[in-house]
Amino acid sequence: MNQIALCPECGNARGMLDACPHCGTATLPHLTVDTVELNIKAGNPTVEEALDQLARKIRLLQEMGARAVILIHGYGSSGEGGLIKRGVHEALESNRYADRVDDYYFGEQVAYGSPTCNTLLKQRPGLKAYLRHFKTGNAGMTVLILGSESRSA
Ligand SMILES: [Zn+2]
Repeated sequence: MNQIALCPECGNARGMLDACPHCGTATLPHLTVDTVELNIKAGNPTVEEALDQLARKIRLLQEMGARAVILIHGYGSSGEGGLIKRGVHEALESNRYADRVDDYYFGEQVAYGSPTCNTLLKQRPGLKAYLRHFKTGNAGMTVLILGSESRSA
């Protein structure tokens, strides 16, 4: 994956959501793009842990200037992937993240080349690099459109 987060203290590339491994600062990095990918299955969290972490990470990413998030939650009729997906959908539909998330699209809705996908790409061209791989949609992801930070102060 391309390096997309740069340390404001030492200038090195680093992870988006952790302290800098080079200089140790916990100051948030600068993003070099406005679209980021976030895998909430990493570390095998429970559904509730995943949803809590998501709230925190959405806030951090928004503060860093991200405008759209490709949320990877997996899928399936059994196992944590399917449970986390269902939990994410329910949380979005009950407006759990509505203070930061303006809009969202389930992967199944934005098959590349579909009218919904084309409309979305006009709004957020940065998503193209991710969505163009999914000509039949991707049930394992959800696209989050973040609001501007000032709105939710
Ligand atoms: Zn650093």
